[in-house]
Amino acid sequence: MPDQDQRWITLVHTIAARANQARDIDTLFEETLPLVVELCDAVTAWVLLQAPDKSFILAGAYNLPPSLKRDSQATLRWSPCYCEQLLLDGRLKETVSVLQCERLRVLRAKLAIDNSEEMQQLTGNLVLHASVPLRSSGRVMGILNVAPEGERPFAEETQQLLTLVGDILGAAVYRLQEVQLRAWYLEVLNRIIHAAVSTTDVQKLLVEVLDHLLCALNLSIGGIWTYQQAALRRLPPEFGWAIRQVAQETQLDITYPIVVSDWQEVSPEVSWYPLRTIMERHGIRASITVPIQVAELRVGGLSVASETPRDWSPEEQALLSAVAYEVGAAIERLHLFEEAQERARRITQLAALSQSLNQAHSLDEVIGLIVAGARELTHADGVALYVWQRSEGRFRTARHEGLSSTFVTRLEAIPPEELPGGNLAHTPQPVLITNFHTLPAENPLRRLADEEGLVSQAVWPLVYEGKTIAVLGCYYRRQRTWGPLDQEVIDTFARQAAIALRNAQLLADLEQTNAQLRDALQAREDMLRNVTHELRTPLTMIRGYAELMEMGLVSTPAEIQEHARTILRNARHLEHLINQMLLFQRIRQGEPLPVITLDLTRWLEEVVSDWQYPMQETGLELRLEVKEPLPLVQAHPDYLRQVMDNLLDNARKFSPQGGVVTVRAWRESSWVYIAVKDQGVGIPPDKLEHIFERFYQVDSSPTRRFGGMGLGLALAKEIVTLHGGRIWAESPGEGRGTTVIFTLPVS
Ligand code: ADP
Repeated sequence: MPDQDQRWITLVHTIAARANQARDIDTLFEETLPLVVELCDAVTAWVLLQAPDKSFILAGAYNLPPSLKRDSQATLRWSPCYCEQLLLDGRLKETVSVLQCERLRVLRAKLAIDNSEEMQQLTGNLVLHASVPLRSSGRVMGILNVAPEGERPFAEETQQLLTLVGDILGAAVYRLQEVQLRAWYLEVLNRIIHAAVSTTDVQKLLVEVLDHLLCALNLSIGGIWTYQQAALRRLPPEFGWAIRQVAQETQLDITYPIVVSDWQEVSPEVSWYPLRTIMERHGIRASITVPIQVAELRVGGLSVASETPRDWSPEEQALLSAVAYEVGAAIERLHLFEEAQERARRITQLAALSQSLNQAHSLDEVIGLIVAGARELTHADGVALYVWQRSEGRFRTARHEGLSSTFVTRLEAIPPEELPGGNLAHTPQPVLITNFHTLPAENPLRRLADEEGLVSQAVWPLVYEGKTIAVLGCYYRRQRTWGPLDQEVIDTFARQAAIALRNAQLLADLEQTNAQLRDALQAREDMLRNVTHELRTPLTMIRGYAELMEMGLVSTPAEIQEHARTILRNARHLEHLINQMLLFQRIRQGEPLPVITLDLTRWLEEVVSDWQYPMQETGLELRLEVKEPLPLVQAHPDYLRQVMDNLLDNARKFSPQGGVVTVRAWRESSWVYIAVKDQGVGIPPDKLEHIFERFYQVDSSPTRRFGGMGLGLALAKEIVTLHGGRIWAESPGEGRGTTVIFTLPVS
C-alpha cells in the first residue's frame, strides 16, 4: 500500500474515532476539521448545518480568513439560496463536486442579490472549494466545505474521501443533535415544570412558562391563554379570544395540536383554514397551537409562532403538548389551591356571621345583620332584604344597602309573576342573572336595573319550613357568574339567615301579643272604671230623687212632676248606656247586618230635626248643609242613627255654649261623605287616631270635665266599617274644633 494511501486511511480512521468520541457539535468540528484539511491538502474547512427555519448556520470552521472572527460567525446565517445553489448546482446530494471559478462568480452574483455581504467577505479570497453533504439516513444534515490554496483542483481520490468523511460527520451530527435534542427537551420541560410548581399565581405561571418555552425554541412570538388570563409575547390581548371565537363559530374542535409550517400554503380544505386570517393578521407564517385542558375541559390554548416559514420537529411538537399538559395540571392545582383557601376564608366568615346572627336580640338587628352579612360574603354592590308580609300577601323591603330607594320601591311595585324566577313565595328557587341584558328588552326588571346601573343579580329565597319568609337580593354593577362555591356559601348563609329571621319574627310577634294583652288588661280596667263611673252618676240621681219622694219631702204636684222627669231622664240615659254596650257586643260577635235602601237626604233631615232641641238646650246652633240630593245607600237605619247620635252627642258635649254644629253631606264618585263639624275643644293631632279605640278618652283623668265611656266612636267605627265605609277625625288642634267624617258606598 503506498504511503499516501496509508496516511489517508489513518486520517479517516482518526476522523471517525474523534467523531464518535465528540460530546457536542462544537468539539466535533474542532477535533475533525483540521484533519479534514490535512486529508485534502487544503487550507480551510467549514461546516454549515441546517437550522429548523431552513437557513444554514455556521457550525464549525478551521482556519477561516482572519477577517471573520469565530464568535461573529457563530450567529451568521447562511442564505438558504446560497446553500440550495450549492446543493443543486454541485449535485452535492449525490457526489462530491468541485466548483470552478466560473460557478463561484455566478454564485457571487446571486449572493449580491441576497445581500449577504458577510458571505462575500467570507468566500472573498477563496476562488475554489469543494462542498460535500453531511448525510445521515438519506437526510442532508449540512454541508462540509473545503478550500485549497489558489485554484488547485481536488484529485478524484480526495473527492471520494470527502464523501466518506461527509457521511462520518453526518452520522456524528445526527447522533449529537439527537442527544442534544433530548437533553434540551428534558431541560426545557424541567424548567417549565419547576416554574409551574413554584408559583401560586396563575398569571405569573403563564408568563414564566411562555418565556421559557420561547427562549428554548428560539422564538419571539407566542401566547398562553385561559378564559381568565393570558400571557402573550408580540401578540395583542385579543389573540387567544379571537382563536376561541373562530373555533367556536366554525366548530373547529382544537383537541389536537395544529402544526403549520407555512400558513400561506394552508388551503381551504384544511380544517383549521379559518384560523389563517388571524395568523396572517398578526404576521405569522408558521405556528403550533395546542389546547390546554383542565380535568378534561378545554380552558385555553398555547401557541408559538414564527414570522418566517419553518418546520416543526416532532420533538418540538411533543414538547409543546407536554408543556400544555403541565400548564393544565398546574392551573388545576392552583385553582384547587385557591378554592381551598377561599373556602377556608368563607367558612370563617360564615361562622362569624352566624354567631352574630344567633346573638342578635331584635328583629331589626337581625335584618341589619343579614343585609350587611350578605354584602360582605357576596361582595355585592347592593343588597336588599324583602320580607313576606302575611297581612298583605306580598314581600316588602325591610332594609337595603347600596341601592337607591327609588329602585327598591319600584321593584316592589312589579308584580312578582313578571320577575324572572316568578313569585318566589310559590317557587323558592335562587334566581341568578349574569347579565340583565339576557332578559327581553321590555322586562320591567331589566329596565329598572339599567336605570340603576346594575348588571347582574343573585336573588336567594330565605326558606323556613318550606315557606319563603324573605328574599335576599344581591346586585352587582358588573357582570359576574356564580361558581359552585359561591352558591354553596350564599345558600348556607340564606338558611342560617332564615332561621335567625324566623326566630326574631316569632319573638317580635310574642312581644306584640304581650303588649296587646297588656293593653287589653288596661282597657278592661279603664272600662270598669268608666262604666262604674258612668252608671253611678245617673243611679245616684235616680236614687236621690226617689228617696226624696219616698220620705215625702216633695209636696207640690209640680215638684213631683219635675223630680219624676229627672228620674226618667237618668233612667233613659242608663238604658242608652246599656244598649250601647249590648250593641257593641252584638256587632263584635259578627251578627249579619240586615240593610235596607235608605234615602239619605230625608234621613239626615230627620236626624238633624230630632237634635235641634237638645242642641238649643245646650246653647248650640245646629245646621244641615246638603247642596244636592244624596244618592241612595244600603244601610241599617238604626245602626246608622247610632253613629250620628254619637257624633252629634260628642259635638254637643265638647263644644262651649254659643257654638255652631254643622252636619254636611256630599257625594264624591261612588262614595257619600257625611261630616259633623263643631267649634269645640278640638283634639291634639297625636290623639286623632286613638279616639276610635274602645274606652279611649283624650282626658281620662277621674277629674275630667266631660262624661262618657269612650265607647261611642269605637262603636261608630264598627258600624261604619260594617257598612263598607271609613271614619276618621280631623282637628286643627286643641280648642279649634273637630270634624268627624265618615263615608258610605253608594248602592
Ligand atoms: P266618649 O263617650 O268618651 O265621648 P267617644 O268614643 O265618643 O267616647 O269619644 C272618645 C274620646 O274622643 C272622647 O272622650 C273625647 O276625648 C274625644 N272626642 C270625641 N269627639 C270629640 C269632639 N267632637 N271634640 C273633642 N273631642 C272629642
